[in-house]
Amino acid sequence: MIVVKVGGSAGIDYDAVCADLAQRWKEGERFVLVHGGSGETNRIAEALGHPPRFVTSPSGYTSRFTDRETLEIFEMVYCGKMNKGIVERLQRLGVNAVGLSGLDGRILEGRHKDSVRAVENGKVKVLRGDHTGTVERVNVDLVKLLLGAGYLPVLTPPAASYEGVAINVDGDRAAAALAVALNADALLLLSNVPGLLREYPDEGSLIREIPANDVESYLDFAQDRMKKKVLGAAEAVQGGVKRVIFGDARAGKPISAALAGAGTVVS
Ligand code: ADP
Repeated sequence: MIVVKVGGSAGIDYDAVCADLAQRWKEGERFVLVHGGSGETNRIAEALGHPPRFVTSPSGYTSRFTDRETLEIFEMVYCGKMNKGIVERLQRLGVNAVGLSGLDGRILEGRHKDSVRAVENGKVKVLRGDHTGTVERVNVDLVKLLLGAGYLPVLTPPAASYEGVAINVDGDRAAAALAVALNADALLLLSNVPGLLREYPDEGSLIREIPANDVESYLDFAQDRMKKKVLGAAEAVQGGVKRVIFGDARAGKPISAALAGAGTVVS
């Protein structure tokens, strides 16, 4: 079983991802697909007059500050437009896909973090009213039920807090937690770059291999959101996933290419 996470940044070719996935699924390979939607969420949030607010933690991680209104826009885009767009593509390709969020059946659970420490104008501030968290528990029963009955699960944030509140969680790390919980053979983190670049944005500086016992030392090469992917990869391999691949989802056969070793392979 392979967990594929496809990002939400500009340039990602969902038709290519779905066509490749459908072909392999029909050949008998089993997948769980996790997706993002950040680019589209930003666009729609702007259009609705509630532009996104990104905050950077003192340790250098960037995240979306998710007040209630942002959470609702986030759900409209991730669980609505993006999720159903992918499910529709797969259905048209003859794959019986089912789209769910981490909130549904509490597939993804974690602690609700109401406040976040953010660096703004050189000062550390505490911002309250955040609806974010980190996935701490994965309830795989529902996912296994779907897989066992022949459905392809298409999953997306948000997750459920232990109190049942919707929380925005990082999709890469959620996919890593799912891959661990499902004992997946591989985790593919597909985005709009060829893989982890030593000198971003120089695509010629692709790092081809990362040893599983040394993933964290590669965090230095990743800026902003790429850091979460590297962190997710570290969590996945530490949790027993044999291979994590950072691959390119912009064209061609993104899943087959990544499984054939294109991109950055963590093993
Ligand atoms: P997605 O939404 O597709 O999951 P993100 O936007 O969260 O992807 O993260 C991927 C982005 O990280 C790339 O588009 C790139 O702009 C950025 N990035 C930062 N540092 C690196 C790096 N060293 N190698 C590759 N991409 C990087």
